[in-house]
Amino acid sequence: MKTETTKAKTKAKQPEVAVPGIAVSHGVAVGLVYDTTEPVTDVTRRTIAADAVDDEKQKLAVAVAFSRKQIGKLKTRIGILPEEAQEEIAPLLDAHLMMLGNSRLIRGARKRIEVGLVGAETAVLEEAEEIRAVILAARDDDKAGLARRANEIRDIGRRLIRNLTATPFRSFKDLPEGCILVAEELTPADAALLDPSRVAGVATEEGGSDGHTAIMLRALGIPAVLGAHGLTEAAQRGDQAVLDGTAGVVSVHPSAATLAMAKDRLAAFAKERTKLSKLRRLPAETTDGEMVELQANLEIPQELPLIAQAGAMGIGLLRTEFLFMNREDLPDEDAQVEAYTQVVEAMEGQPVTIRVLDWGGEKDMEALADGVAPVHAGSNPALGLRGLRMLLKRPELLEVQFAAVLRVAAAGGDGHVRLLLPMVTVPEEVRQAREIYERVARRLRRRGEKLPEKLPPLGVMIETPGAALAADAIALEADFFAIGTNDLAMYTLAVDRSEVDVSHLYDPLHPAVLRLVQFATEAALRLRMPVSVCGEMAGNPQLTPLLLGLGLRTFSMNASALPRVKQAVRALDIGDCARFARRVMEQSDPARIRELVAGFAEGITERA
Ligand code: PEP
Ligand code: MG
Repeated sequence: MKTETTKAKTKAKQPEVAVPGIAVSHGVAVGLVYDTTEPVTDVTRRTIAADAVDDEKQKLAVAVAFSRKQIGKLKTRIGILPEEAQEEIAPLLDAHLMMLGNSRLIRGARKRIEVGLVGAETAVLEEAEEIRAVILAARDDDKAGLARRANEIRDIGRRLIRNLTATPFRSFKDLPEGCILVAEELTPADAALLDPSRVAGVATEEGGSDGHTAIMLRALGIPAVLGAHGLTEAAQRGDQAVLDGTAGVVSVHPSAATLAMAKDRLAAFAKERTKLSKLRRLPAETTDGEMVELQANLEIPQELPLIAQAGAMGIGLLRTEFLFMNREDLPDEDAQVEAYTQVVEAMEGQPVTIRVLDWGGEKDMEALADGVAPVHAGSNPALGLRGLRMLLKRPELLEVQFAAVLRVAAAGGDGHVRLLLPMVTVPEEVRQAREIYERVARRLRRRGEKLPEKLPPLGVMIETPGAALAADAIALEADFFAIGTNDLAMYTLAVDRSEVDVSHLYDPLHPAVLRLVQFATEAALRLRMPVSVCGEMAGNPQLTPLLLGLGLRTFSMNASALPRVKQAVRALDIGDCARFARRVMEQSDPARIRELVAGFAEGITERA
């Protein structure tokens, strides 16, 4: 939750436009919109040889087609906006589409390639600038209309250049303090670059509730609304906005009533935070004396102070992807040792579960995608070389990670460092990983490293239906389970967790997902093997009774969710939870399950 720090520009009051989206990170932000479509001014003029003209024209044609597709997609999505907003936005998108047809911009750019022998991006930039200059110099009293047309040319030129140069949409270096960041899309790697002390809120057109961008934003405690169709058209840089990350709405040009409500909510959140902070030192213990372990997930080291503040009992999931993001080379063993040591030391003897690289799907990393060590994830990356599959194909990557973690264990992390394997489907993958693990340990011992007699436990993420249904077989190879409900829901329901168009079908409370959680938990409990939940379900206090009732006692979640989950635990009785879970597991309709869960949660709120 952040407050507005700069004053809105004085302009005629415009009517409020409320753009709904998916509520992904709690809190309210009041601030000025900062759109991240930066001017592309750093295109260096590129000349080409006469025999490259056809290739450049083809590149331009591809970028035009792709840009049309992007705008077409935006257009189909504004249907859910209020009518006035649609009336304002649709003509703008049509104008953009027209400019991507046989327009002066495209004809001119083609001619510049042909005659001026310049690269496609140079041609677009120069043509767009010339057209803008002509428009702005026109003798017309409607200065606002001229400026609007000039901006349209600039925007479409930028889109084309971004698509031609594969330039990321934005830079996050100089974000104005207290801004509400608005973008078409934000990748997890982009989110990792955000400074939560400068950004009051984030809203994007794309994205789903449990995609990694959403997870990052929750981890950073930045209120966020994703999947807000039409927002980039409705909100312009400098507009005042209220972002409600709990209700999932962004109100551009908020009315006095909306502003007043937002300010009340800000005050209520501050009050709740003070109340929750008092729980920090209290145990996560149910009313009948059952201890529950609440740990934190860590995406980026910047979260370490938040984790300490939340009173987490260690880190249940250290996603190591951050080490590989926003760079074009790979982190070597020493760099990894340094990073893990920082975390282990900060946790002062509390357990730290380090998951080896889960590359693939939406978690794209330059060095692996097309940089120093490219891996082809296949045409369907979520089902291709993701997680452990990729690491077993490229064991040198796994060896470096294992070696780094083992060195950290040898240097004092012994007894509280654990290793975790992502995206497992068959026991054989775990066996192969363990062979590599033991080989690396032997090599380190030969090198003189004083490794502990018993190596740190090697656990398995249960995040595919295959792993969940074969949990009893996989349990024989694993030292512990961490149930990843995010991917488990995605793969069970065949719903991309970060795809906005199917987000209504993404439902971890679907009975199929719950049955898999139950099956895997019971397999682990039968073998007295440690089992935790580290997907986003773990951080939702409404689901705490159900998960406790299924027999789970360890949860790992984003640090900001931890106090609320602790509050729920302290108001619950395990017997009640078990009865409640039995009732839920008899249901077949997700809507009915949601109803039951909400009803039970209401009871806890009253007791807490
Ligand atoms: C999960 O899939 O639930 C999980 C915790 O892993 P990630 O979100 O990193 O894919
Ligand atoms: Mg996962």
